[in-house]
Amino acid sequence: MTLDDLHDLDVLVVGAGNAAANAALAARERGAQRVALIESAPEQARGGNSAFTGGAFRFVYDSVDDLLKLAPDIADLDLPNIDFGTYTREQYFDDIGRLTEFRADPDLTEVLIGNSYDAALWLRRHGVRFQPALGRQAFKVGGKFRFWGGLACHILGGGTHLVEALHHALADARVGVLYQTQAMGLLYGERGIEGVRAMHAGRQVDIRARAVVLACGGFESNAEMRARYLGPNWDLAKVRGTRYNTGWGHRMAMEIGAAVAGHWSGAHAVQWDMNAPEFGDLTIGDRFQKHNYPFGILVNAKGERFLDEGLDFHSFTYAKYGHEVLKQPGLFAWQIFDQKVTKLLRDEYRIARITKETAGTLEELATKLTGVDPEGFLRTVRAYNAAPRPDVQFDPNVHDGLRTQGLAIDKTNWANPLDTPPYEAYGVTTGVTFTFGGLKVSTDGEVLDASGMPIRGLFAAGEIVGGLYYHNYGSGTGLVAGVVFGRRAGAGAAALAAR
Ligand SMILES: Cc1cc2nc3c(=O)[nH]c(=O)nc-3n(C[C@H](O)[C@H](O)[C@H](O)COP(=O)(O)OP(=O)(O)OC[C@H]3O[C@@H](n4cnc5c(N)ncnc54)[C@H](O)[C@@H]3O)c2cc1C
Repeated sequence: MTLDDLHDLDVLVVGAGNAAANAALAARERGAQRVALIESAPEQARGGNSAFTGGAFRFVYDSVDDLLKLAPDIADLDLPNIDFGTYTREQYFDDIGRLTEFRADPDLTEVLIGNSYDAALWLRRHGVRFQPALGRQAFKVGGKFRFWGGLACHILGGGTHLVEALHHALADARVGVLYQTQAMGLLYGERGIEGVRAMHAGRQVDIRARAVVLACGGFESNAEMRARYLGPNWDLAKVRGTRYNTGWGHRMAMEIGAAVAGHWSGAHAVQWDMNAPEFGDLTIGDRFQKHNYPFGILVNAKGERFLDEGLDFHSFTYAKYGHEVLKQPGLFAWQIFDQKVTKLLRDEYRIARITKETAGTLEELATKLTGVDPEGFLRTVRAYNAAPRPDVQFDPNVHDGLRTQGLAIDKTNWANPLDTPPYEAYGVTTGVTFTFGGLKVSTDGEVLDASGMPIRGLFAAGEIVGGLYYHNYGSGTGLVAGVVFGRRAGAGAAALAAR
């Protein structure tokens, strides 16, 4: 597609990730004839953060039958020995309420949850494949897998496959993408929003459209905005995904009076290899992350533990524990495991580009943890190992209650002592995933102004929207939110363009 093709548009979508693609597809389905995407990145880096995802997808399911409709191959599995459980609307509500300290926008949450399963079916209709998350969200204990954390299925092939399938669907729907085109401002007049002003090939261009959908992500890739909104040292965090989510969408909407919503000083941030590059690398995807800390301990430069590694399943703590690492001296920590649990570690612990140490004794390991006080480390491990524990079986599939007692910070589940060498240690820092502050939208994706009225012709979806996440996040919610609200924003934009 060239710039000359971008005239007389019904719907212009800014961005080319998950929310954008679904908005464009929904707009076409609703009858919009001329729909196009503009995207800051070059084609080979397309897909935004969506391309970096592992494909976790959180949706309501009441039985295995619901899962079979998404992933028919499940029928070939040893079903009597897999307990998929359920993830009901109520469980989903409870998780979002608890994780966001009951701040999540109730209307957006209701729409998100109520449409989550249909969002998965919609993706399947558009060529996206799902698979059960065995080994990630369910471990084999006593010959049986049991799911936890509300995530039964992942997108097969993760974000790469998702973006490929969606862009295939866009091409089939005759929706083009103009790459290396960064939206910088909104055009508006008597009819409301009339298009965007953009930078393309080093020059300013105006692209006119009857409706615009902003689906251009958060501001996590902009160090200045991170420092400004998230606070000190956030400019030093590594960015897990794309370098192109620089917050221009937020700015251009706010400039014309869009209201904001959500947790502007909040972000999703995880433990991420301390030597990972400044931005994500698509050849590694999400595998610089290190999510199995519930099975070990985490120490800082003083050799001290600083959080309860076993507070909950990683799905419910990983997005806030990145913040805790940022608060530590030097902004780093080491995760420590012994051989009782290393077989449970995910594939991200077996990549070549990894900051890893192994040792036959704790004393030897103490000398290998760069930046860590060896004496402090040994004191911590000895106290942790010696702390009294109830006589219960370690079980990674449930909150097993295997906890320490009497430590300054107790570990409240999965607290095996570290006593089976060789020991393994992984160096981590903070990797920011996306930011929580965004634009205020209606449940139909219309961007609202300060008085709560829709700004005519302006819609938004995906991580540019605020109001769903506060303090914390349940894994697999971002993609589903992009599909649910992308579809609604695209449909609304098409309806407006037709008027
Ligand atoms: C490493 C990693 C792993 C993740 N894993 C998961 C997971 O397993 N499950 C899950 O649900 N979520 C996951 N997430 C979160 C998930 O990526 C997001 O929730 C989701 O992809 C956001 O989609 P989006 O369409 O809003 O933004 P994006 O996919 O980031 O797309 C935004 C697009 O807008 C473009 N853009 C930005 N500014 C402009 C501009 N001014 N003009 C034109 N284009 C612009 C960007 O280049 C980008 O392509 C993960 C994120 C990361 C980084």
